[in-house]
Amino acid sequence: MARTTDVIIIGGGIHGSSLAFHLAESGVKVIVLEKEVIASGATGRSSGLVRMHYALETESRLAWDSFQYFRDWAERVGGDCGFTRTGFMQFVSPEYEAHLKANVAMHKNIGIPTFLIDADDVKTLEPAFSTEGIKFAAYEPESGYADPYATTAGFLDAARKMGATLVQDCEVTAVEVKAGKISGVKTSQGDYAAPVVVNCAGPWAARIGDMVGLALPINTWQHDTMMVQRPKTLKRPHLTVIDDINEMYFRPETGGLTLVGLEDNNPLGENPDGQTDHAKPGFVERAIERICRRIPVMEAASLQSAHGGYDGISPDQRAILGQAGPEGFYLQCGFSGTGFKIGPAVGKCMAELILDGEAKTVDIDPFRFQRFEEGDLLEGEHSYGDIWH
Ligand SMILES: Cc1cc2nc3c(=O)[nH]c(=O)nc-3n(C[C@H](O)[C@H](O)[C@H](O)COP(=O)(O)OP(=O)(O)OC[C@H]3O[C@@H](n4cnc5c(N)ncnc54)[C@H](O)[C@@H]3O)c2cc1C
Repeated sequence: MARTTDVIIIGGGIHGSSLAFHLAESGVKVIVLEKEVIASGATGRSSGLVRMHYALETESRLAWDSFQYFRDWAERVGGDCGFTRTGFMQFVSPEYEAHLKANVAMHKNIGIPTFLIDADDVKTLEPAFSTEGIKFAAYEPESGYADPYATTAGFLDAARKMGATLVQDCEVTAVEVKAGKISGVKTSQGDYAAPVVVNCAGPWAARIGDMVGLALPINTWQHDTMMVQRPKTLKRPHLTVIDDINEMYFRPETGGLTLVGLEDNNPLGENPDGQTDHAKPGFVERAIERICRRIPVMEAASLQSAHGGYDGISPDQRAILGQAGPEGFYLQCGFSGTGFKIGPAVGKCMAELILDGEAKTVDIDPFRFQRFEEGDLLEGEHSYGDIWH
């Protein structure tokens, strides 16, 4: 006999857990099926940056709504998501100066705390930084980073207290469709019946799409990060930074560490089951060279660790959200290397869409699957080009 529920969520990462929380909050019976353990995919490898600076307004709105969960986590969800306010700066090449100014204005209009600052301000905020290539920067004093595992576990703990079920070590092997409608799933632990199935399978999402005959334009994106121990001269945690000039981002971590990731050389199309314990050969050398360009005293830093991770990436490097394929089949995937920070609001919007037929918190229609066949790909009005290249 299949166990019956209202909604089946495939995947126990940030997105499956956020959706479970919001559905359970609305009194819906929900089961999360996770083939390994929670946060064992992209989420557990995430750098956890929490910022609102995007070139696409809808993404900034999702990030801003999500930020308020991270900031007020104890009251809204319960426990501690590890949110650490560091302040955030976005550096862009001089050719994008006008776009930076337009985006800061757009963010201010949304209500996001953000300022346009110049190279002297950057030097005042971070005396150890070189300001090479910087004329202006965006500054978000409230932003920082959170702990992706704690965030996911927090959502799921709260969801379970409201009646949701989590089944780990449970791989979905087939999605069942009867007369064009979702009827349930087959798994390594038996069958589950439900009229709604949500694909929150991260870099494995295309495989779940295949189970209902839906070809999702989601590729696998591989990304390495490293942690270095900062030198004694740089003990104080620095701001979190996206430095497009040097094609990298970095943030502090507890214990005097700094995390670094690079925007270039993130290979596509690898098997998402590939190893993530080690970074690719050459990554550490490139990342050290980049961080020393921006923070010269990092020459005296020492390597602490490096590893990789996979996410699902779409052709316009943006999420795919909404209903597609058989009735009752929903997509919450394709987060393209930037999906952690918008997880809270996306889960809320998807719950609204599933329950009320429309997302009210933020309009997520631009992220619909159908945009690819309509040729309506997403691009910020004042874009800095693709994040990953
Ligand atoms: C190294 C790295 C750094 C990143 N840094 C940032 C950052 O700083 N800020 C940011 O916003 N984003 C960042 N991202 C992106 C972000 O982590 C992802 O977009 C986000 O975590 C995706 O969450 P998810 O829940 O969709 O997928 P996942 O976390 O991958 O979860 C999917 C889950 O589905 C399960 N699953 C798959 N197939 C099945 C099946 N058949 N049956 C059952 N379960 C299944 C998997 O085991 C997995 O646990 C980063 C990503 C990586 C890889």
